[in-house]
Amino acid sequence: MPRVALIAHDDEKPVIIDLAREYESLLSTFDLVATGTTGERIAEETGLSVERKESGPIGGDTQIGAEVVEERLDGIVFLRDPLTAQPHEPDITALLRICDVHDVPMATTRTSAEFLLDGLAAETGESARGQM
Ligand code: PGA
Repeated sequence: MPRVALIAHDDEKPVIIDLAREYESLLSTFDLVATGTTGERIAEETGLSVERKESGPIGGDTQIGAEVVEERLDGIVFLRDPLTAQPHEPDITALLRICDVHDVPMATTRTSAEFLLDGLAAETGESARGQM
């Protein structure tokens, strides 16, 4: 079962929830992990169960980076706010770097996230969108 991490900055949380709803059927067949607030919102607003790490600013991004190092993750959807500086910018940069090191795909926009999830669906033979 693919394991995917979901992270969204505050400005992008409505987008990741909309994405999770659209892909709920596929994502229900995945093992999901998320930073604290993103995971809480997705669990509340969809029927998905999500393993929650700490909130991003207090280390959640770093915890997800550790899973990349351990080769536990198949992909990351990280919807970043490109217009607002984040207090944990060094952690975000570290996560991007470690994904590059381990060739773990990271999508940072809605469209690239759809491509990533469609790609994982193609690998697993699941249908990407549609009914539960
Ligand atoms: P959050 O963290 O899901 O706890 O808001 C996201 C982030 O800023 O990395």
